[in-house]
Amino acid sequence: MRQKLIAANWKMNGSALQVDALIEGLRSKLSNPRFQNSKIVICPSYIHIESVLVKLQGSGLQVGAQDVSSYANGAYTGQISAQMLADIGCKYVIIGHSERRQYCFEDNAVISKKLITSVYFGLTPIFCVGETKSEREQGVTEEVISKQIVSVVEACGVDVFAKATIAYEPIWAIGTGLTATPEQAQAVHAFIRHCLQAYDRELSSKITILYGGSVNAKNASSLFAQQDIDGGLVGGASLNAEEFVQICEAAVNR
Ligand code: PEP
Repeated sequence: MRQKLIAANWKMNGSALQVDALIEGLRSKLSNPRFQNSKIVICPSYIHIESVLVKLQGSGLQVGAQDVSSYANGAYTGQISAQMLADIGCKYVIIGHSERRQYCFEDNAVISKKLITSVYFGLTPIFCVGETKSEREQGVTEEVISKQIVSVVEACGVDVFAKATIAYEPIWAIGTGLTATPEQAQAVHAFIRHCLQAYDRELSSKITILYGGSVNAKNASSLFAQQDIDGGLVGGASLNAEEFVQICEAAVNR
């Protein structure tokens, strides 16, 4: 049975004070042994990573970054390397989020380099894939997802997925309040496993695949009840400690 994983993507939100309060709320509730068989990952903005790491010490919760440089090191002003993240204690990194694809023009080639570099330095990537609203309406969702996955396999080899998690995030559901129905999400998750099966059958059944896109306390249980959904990547709702805890409860009670 695959382990449940729930990741909080705080995006570019939170003052130092708000981060303190949020962590306080999460730490007290999520350090409970009930959650010890699941992985819970908090992804603050870079500037808050170190303080969150310190505050979560001994809690069992993990910390991740929301992005990473595609370069290992060197003259890349303003960038943060996978090695730096691993060095301070980060375990996860979100790669290929649709907001980075859209606003920072990241393409599959850059994303593949980020995946390779992150895995090399021991981070677990949470690799995001997903279609736009118009792609879904045109009926090309599977084609889009398959291209995103195959481009990584071709650039990095399928083994990169042995050390990664995938997040299916339909772009039309991110931050919009629209959620894929459990059946829509399940169909794409099963398709992702099917894509990987062509390369490595065992890996395709073992890999953790998260759903992301307006997950909240109300819809989490029905999404997490689906056979191929192993947890969630949660944006807006993760900024509310009580709601995020309820989402984690939904994952462990599945
Ligand atoms: C995300 O940005 O990864 C996300 C899933 O956001 P939200 O939950 O707000 O839709």
